[in-house]
Amino acid sequence: MIARMESQTISPALLDNHSRVMRKLRVSLTDACNYRCFYCMEENPVFTAPSNLLTPEEIETICRQLVGMGLEEIRITGGEPTLRPEFPEIIERLSTLPIKTLALTSNGHHLEKKLAHLRTTKLSKINISADSLDEGRFHSITRGGDLPRVLKALFQARDMGFEVKLNAIIFRGINDEEVVDFARFSGREGIEVRFLEYMKIGPGINDFDTRFVPAREMRARLRDALGELTPVSMPRDSTAKVYTTAEGGRIGIIGSESEPFCGDCSRLRLSATGTLRPCLMMNIGVSLRGMATENYPDVVSKVVSWKPNGRLPEIAQGMYQIGG
Ligand code: SAM
Ligand code: SF4
Repeated sequence: MIARMESQTISPALLDNHSRVMRKLRVSLTDACNYRCFYCMEENPVFTAPSNLLTPEEIETICRQLVGMGLEEIRITGGEPTLRPEFPEIIERLSTLPIKTLALTSNGHHLEKKLAHLRTTKLSKINISADSLDEGRFHSITRGGDLPRVLKALFQARDMGFEVKLNAIIFRGINDEEVVDFARFSGREGIEVRFLEYMKIGPGINDFDTRFVPAREMRARLRDALGELTPVSMPRDSTAKVYTTAEGGRIGIIGSESEPFCGDCSRLRLSATGTLRPCLMMNIGVSLRGMATENYPDVVSKVVSWKPNGRLPEIAQGMYQIGG
């Protein structure tokens, strides 16, 4: 085992050939979603049959093995994770693991009623995706989404003491004029806003050239309107460059395409059907379903060794299929 900080140890299987140590696991609960964001999925996607998804018990078993090897942060995602009827049970099970952080990424639509229960679990961080603060535009980007409902869940989660963030992809000609509005919203509401660069993933491959807005342009727009951005120091494996604004906003910019962070990546992904993947951009992995404990070190080591050192160009699978 390798020493990590004070008393923690990690399995050598989590160390790759480029001195990266895996620390984080993204767990997809389902590829299904109640929204149809134009950049994520087609209008009539075919989702995995519920009977093929990992059961709550399987999710707990696999995550317990990986946490036992040294992973210390789990983020639940999808598709839309709150659609799983067993969502509360899954969060409860994962709360029994010795992890530092249990986090959730959600579209927020079905979240408000679940928050009181979530507050009794280990889940402490919630990212909610909302690519526009304009109700009509949000409705059209998501093909039917309900912005007031999503914002209600966001504010409720903040008021209940969760650490919340709002995720927004910035698209040229769609919502790029809203960058400053989002930053003002952050200052007003005390909620960090994370701007994501559009990625060449799934439908993003088709209109990337016309819609992509680079991180440097987002920063320039913010500086022009709001003055200097003050950088905030972040852990090395953070995906975001974070800044505060003079108006009290806190902005994270995730430049996956123009400022990739692959050299410091510490993430593995578990698909909704149990495949451990090395990288968001690689459609390969190994199924951990039903795997014996003694095989974990070899299999995890193999998957970790497949992690690319640099950014791969694109992937045809949609983010909902990978687990974003
Ligand atoms: N349904 C949940 C949600 O929307 O937050 C969780 C899953 S969603 C796939 C996770 C994140 O992936 C969202 O913030 C979404 O905006 C982002 N995403 C999807 N497709 C993307 C793309 N082509 N480029 C960048 N981000 C993308
Ligand atoms: Fe659903 Fe999230 Fe994809 Fe939108 S980004 S379609 S909410 S999975």
